[in-house]
Amino acid sequence: MYFPQYRPRRLRAGETIRRMVRETTLAADNFIYPLFVTHGKGVKKEIGSMPGNFQQSIDNVVKDCEETWKLGVPAVILFGIPEMKDETGSEACSEHGVVQHAIRAIKDKLPDLLVITDVCLCEYTSHGHCGVIRNGQVQNDETLELLAKEAVSHARAGADMVAPSDMMDGRVGAIREALDDTGYQQVPIMSYAAKYASGFYGPFREAAESTPQFGDRRSYQMDPPNSREALREVALDIEEGADIVMVKPALSYLDIIFQVKQQFNLPVAAYNVSGEFSMIKAGAKLGWIDGDRVMLEVLTSIKRAGADMILTYHAKEAAKLLNG
Ligand SMILES: [Zn+2]
Repeated sequence: MYFPQYRPRRLRAGETIRRMVRETTLAADNFIYPLFVTHGKGVKKEIGSMPGNFQQSIDNVVKDCEETWKLGVPAVILFGIPEMKDETGSEACSEHGVVQHAIRAIKDKLPDLLVITDVCLCEYTSHGHCGVIRNGQVQNDETLELLAKEAVSHARAGADMVAPSDMMDGRVGAIREALDDTGYQQVPIMSYAAKYASGFYGPFREAAESTPQFGDRRSYQMDPPNSREALREVALDIEEGADIVMVKPALSYLDIIFQVKQQFNLPVAAYNVSGEFSMIKAGAKLGWIDGDRVMLEVLTSIKRAGADMILTYHAKEAAKLLNG
């Protein structure tokens, strides 16, 4: 059927009919809100390049979680900023680490809010890399032990889900085994399965104070031009026991999200990263784009590509708009 018999505009004529034929619906349920936890009390330090996002002490993080939960956002993901950084990132695995304390405080107030933890070493190491360094190289197998210990310590503190973001080979299997051996068979793993070495992480590194002190992360994060490699990484993580697989970043990798969704039958997460957030904020501040409209369009595109859940700094503001 072609024009003039068929006129696609008929189904776009008014908002009611558009609502009826809309294929993708965005809701607060789809969001995971990232939070940066720091030591101290009463701390709430805005991250310059990420307006509306803060480094916060636990008391303020709990308040933020209450707001998040009230808006209908079901989950947060925690990133820790330790008191002291060292070569092996020891605060990452400490019972008294800032994330471990935060998990206990949040779960105490909001038992139903799903608390996910980022499992990595870069925020905790003095060199800012995601693993142990020897001879200037990130050591894969030695790092696995530390990541497994970190994941278990998060689970012990009450984390509902762990999310390894390091991109070491074999980490999902190592973490699954360690969780199972310590009685945390019920704790799911959301793996950063296809994580690219991206320029879009810039503002996050200010937020998490995790800029590598030498070199970059290209020897472990993926090369942006590759997509078949992403599917291999996802397949490996599923084989090793991942429950949810993530693609990061989201906006420049919608094709990867789409392919992962088509090829695998696990829930897919996408990380709408800091640079994607900051670009919208900057454009809106300059008056060059309508920030709210572009934000919802971007989030919708990520969901339309195949993401079941979106980690996003927009979670609260988008939820407010969607809740109307
Ligand atoms: Zn890392």
